[in-house]
Amino acid sequence: MKEFLQGIEQKSRNAPSDVVVMKFGGTSVENAAAIRRVAQIVRSRLGSRPVVVVSALSKVTDRLLLMGKAAARGDLETAMQVLQELRQRHQEVALDLVHGADHERVQQSLTLDFEIVSELIRGIAAVGEFSPRTQDSLLGFGECLSSKIASAAFIENGLNVALVDAHDCIVTDTAHTQATPLWDQTNEHLARLLTPLLEAGQIPLLGGFIGATCDGIPTTLGRGGSDFSAAIVGAGLNAERIEIWTDVDGIMTSDPNVCPDALRIERMSFAEAAELAYFGAKVLHPATLLPAMRQNIPVYVLNSRNPDCEGTEIVAQCNGATRVKAITVKRGVAVVDVEAVRRMEPELLREICEMLGRHQCTFDLVSASWSSASLLVGSTLGLPAVAAELKGLASVRWENHKALVCLVGDKIRRPEIAGHVFKAISHVDARMIGQGASERNISFLVDESIADESVRVLHQLFFSSDVAARAASKALCQAGEAWQ
Ligand code: ADP
Ligand code: ASP
Ligand code: MG
Repeated sequence: MKEFLQGIEQKSRNAPSDVVVMKFGGTSVENAAAIRRVAQIVRSRLGSRPVVVVSALSKVTDRLLLMGKAAARGDLETAMQVLQELRQRHQEVALDLVHGADHERVQQSLTLDFEIVSELIRGIAAVGEFSPRTQDSLLGFGECLSSKIASAAFIENGLNVALVDAHDCIVTDTAHTQATPLWDQTNEHLARLLTPLLEAGQIPLLGGFIGATCDGIPTTLGRGGSDFSAAIVGAGLNAERIEIWTDVDGIMTSDPNVCPDALRIERMSFAEAAELAYFGAKVLHPATLLPAMRQNIPVYVLNSRNPDCEGTEIVAQCNGATRVKAITVKRGVAVVDVEAVRRMEPELLREICEMLGRHQCTFDLVSASWSSASLLVGSTLGLPAVAAELKGLASVRWENHKALVCLVGDKIRRPEIAGHVFKAISHVDARMIGQGASERNISFLVDESIADESVRVLHQLFFSSDVAARAASKALCQAGEAWQ
């Protein structure tokens, strides 16, 4: 009987469902103190089997990008200055965290990486070109460096960590700078490389954001892609939960940088969170929810600076009152107006969409009338070519510096909600008003310069009573504490 029970215990311990994937973003690993905090958070999960995914130290990816661009325009001096600054920052963080023989080992490994980065920079300067493929090779160093430092620091902290090269785990297509995982190969690599470590009681730690093609060429999953890495790993290992640790208390009713009184959302559905991420909420990479959704793995957004806060729980179903859950902004979009010479036939619209795709102009949201169509694009680079191809059939005009303001919430596509929204912003020049293809969003386009103000007006409309209620309950709690 005892043996039988032990067998069950063993089986349940090895069952994939006690794996928890913990992703720590740039600010969560920004310096030595932050990395120490993260080690404590990982320790608090030792009752499960953690797998850790880390981003580059905060702002490092931006600096690597700047360095590559400087080199490509021949400004090797700036590129080398940035390189030196990055080298010093990483060495200092490692010096603070890792000691003894491990320190020597880590410093040597960092030195080697910076030599390769230096070679890359010189190569970019020599050819005067910073191709997407080279960009991926360069930007990926941020995560390679941070994962080396964090793993050594965690080991010194007594955690049984095994550093894994994410290039060996995440297999992607060749769409450099925006690669998509090849799921079967990736899952096979994850099972082969991570499962034995987990079974041996180790904590695998890998860099987010990066992967490699079948031929081993480095790729990246798009900016902010470490969240996506965590979801890929979580899905591959059929994790019990995926935790996204960041610098805010969870998903908020709006970007707290825009609305300082934004409130934490306690629970939301996968679909709501995906919509929010897709429409610009930087807190989650837009692709993150899909793998979790497919396998029904709950995702938690948590604050590494305030680990006791419960954060936001994202689950399949979230039954609650129908209401606006959050307001977000997708910035830096352009609106393209296509005016047909005759009529905007469905066939012409189809051709326009196909042309945009061919010229790498991904588009969103289309509104069409009898003779024209308006589309939203993230980049206008391909538009001159599209305009040239459409000559004689339609004229093409575009306007930059637009922003899409979006209200998200399950089943909010109701006339009374839309009525409140458009009454509140009646003074604003809004266009391309849409209630989405889903029941989950209401959106409109404004000049980027007035986007934040529009969000604040709507936040006040939909959340002022919650803000007041939370302030009152906080005051009551404080009074209670004072009384005790
Ligand atoms: P990390 O480095 O941890 O990945 P990010 O900077 O990518 O963190 O994402 C966190 C940031 O997202 C927050 O600091 C906040 O400014 C921004 N943000 C935008 N919209 C929201 C929102 N609705 N809720 C929470 N944070 C948001
Ligand atoms: N370091 C990468 C970036 O800044 C990925 C991430 O942080 O998620 O885009
Ligand atoms: Mg992020």
